[in-house]
Amino acid sequence: MRAPRSAKRSLGQNFLVDENLQRKIVTALGAGPGDEVLEIGPGRGALTRHLAGRVGRLTAIELDDHLAAALTEEFAGRPDVRIVHADVLDVDLDTLTASPGSLKVVGNIPYNITTPIIFHLLRRPRPGEIVLMVQDDVAERIVAPVGTKEYGALSVGVRTVAQVERLFKVGRNAFRPVPGVDSCIIRIRPTVPEPLTAAEEEGLRRLVRAAFQWRRKQLRKILRDHPDLACPEAALAVLAERLGLALEDRPERLTPEHFLRLSAALPEVLRPS
Ligand code: SAM
Repeated sequence: MRAPRSAKRSLGQNFLVDENLQRKIVTALGAGPGDEVLEIGPGRGALTRHLAGRVGRLTAIELDDHLAAALTEEFAGRPDVRIVHADVLDVDLDTLTASPGSLKVVGNIPYNITTPIIFHLLRRPRPGEIVLMVQDDVAERIVAPVGTKEYGALSVGVRTVAQVERLFKVGRNAFRPVPGVDSCIIRIRPTVPEPLTAAEEEGLRRLVRAAFQWRRKQLRKILRDHPDLACPEAALAVLAERLGLALEDRPERLTPEHFLRLSAALPEVLRPS
């Protein structure tokens, strides 16, 4: 492998140097010879080296030119390891594998695009399992209890389509350079079978975005007056009654289950976008 260059902040490069933690993360993924694995942001190979040879097939997507070139060189003799030089946000899972639903995804991902990566992975077709290193506060927001100030679009967006677990914390000293915050390993398991149709899921995205853009307003006002929703007033009372919702509630009082039920009912009353 070539001599390492200095870390690029613009690419969120904080390399995990603690070998025990590297092993612990790979063990948490629980992938074996029968599994196809996608690693996001392999960097200098901290997780890649523990995964290669342990899993059936490994694809690692790295955006940094030099790191991608060094990894390609290092793993050139291994037909079970594929290094893809690309932006992970431009890669659809079904272009990587014939069975995205059984893909396992792992990554110590760049902190500056954590949320876009999570939402990207949770678009259809979704993988079977995702184990990610995220900043502690992002993990807090994902698992936040209903009604707290951390509960928002990220919590609902993830928990309507997947189960989430916080696995263990990783202190900042496990990285070089040392970042300003601690991190946490989370496991996200997309729900099978899909809770919503593709059209209902599109409605869910509109609804969640609108609801938390107007998080200080009551549900009635959001559903009726938000330009992305514009539900007819007459439909609201019927909808609320049927779904057991209080229209005076603010969005942070609605559970992921409420959002799911609401978006399953919305296509009947929403204007097409
Ligand atoms: N996995 C390595 C480790 O644990 O030491 C590196 C982790 S570092 C936090 C994030 C890695 O993601 C870096 O190697 C960075 O170059 C890469 N990266 C940043 N943006 C990316 C993107 N959009 N697509 C793919 N890789 C990206």
